[in-house]
Amino acid sequence: MPTFSELGLGVDVLKAIEALGYQEPTPIQQQAIPLLLSTPTDLVALAQTGTGKTAAFGLPLIDQLDFNSRDPLALILAPTRELCVQIANDLAKFAQFAPGASIVPVYGGAAISTQIRSIKQGAHIIVATPGRLIDLLGRKAVKLHNVNVVVLDEADEMLNMGFKEDIDHILASMPEERNIWLFSATMPPEITRLTEQFLHNPVRVEVARAATTASTITQGLIATHSGFQKRETLRRLIRDAEGFKNAIIAKV
Ligand code: AMP
Repeated sequence: MPTFSELGLGVDVLKAIEALGYQEPTPIQQQAIPLLLSTPTDLVALAQTGTGKTAAFGLPLIDQLDFNSRDPLALILAPTRELCVQIANDLAKFAQFAPGASIVPVYGGAAISTQIRSIKQGAHIIVATPGRLIDLLGRKAVKLHNVNVVVLDEADEMLNMGFKEDIDHILASMPEERNIWLFSATMPPEITRLTEQFLHNPVRVEVARAATTASTITQGLIATHSGFQKRETLRRLIRDAEGFKNAIIAKV
């Protein structure tokens, strides 16, 4: 298992990882971080919440950006206000030893004037819901001409929530040279279409879906010999069982 330092991350980010107490990179981080650090590329990552996906794009992003710039250098789109705030908080932690880094979340349902002021004060990374970003673009309150990385986080959720047109509009108004890093828990046909329309030869990474059991299900194991004893044990279990009406018997 590679260490964070072996993935190629610089000293400021490694200090932040140590402060956060991350011991080793998760599978999506092991795959995505060296890729995103080594060469400018588009990326399609199939990964769910809980896999460490925010750090998979956030750590290489913080590592690469030049925080001396005045203009936004990276844009992260996410479906909800809560996720925007969470991503911005995570990125601020990853950037805690990177002097001058400024990360600004913008989302609907909060005063746009305050958000415009924050952007004007200097935002290197903007974390936005698509609708609010469209609003800010319409008011010419945000400049995207220096953005060279766009992250689409929970892309399938954004499409489910009806942001397809907003995302199309935002991506179409970006500089041609930008890279897009798309993260999605599922790959429905609309995501494939989005990928084909806007991404150039994306590298694909995928982490296995964690096996989960619904919290209402209790699991147990009864060891028997095969053949008659197994059938007899099952028969007694069904006969004596109380408290449920239905059962599924699956042969494994
Ligand atoms: P995410 O999938 O980005 O929502 O991350 C899920 C949680 O895992 C967050 O609380 C992260 O802080 C945490 N996390 C991310 N990467 C690591 C790591 N390498 N080691 C331990 N925790 C991590």
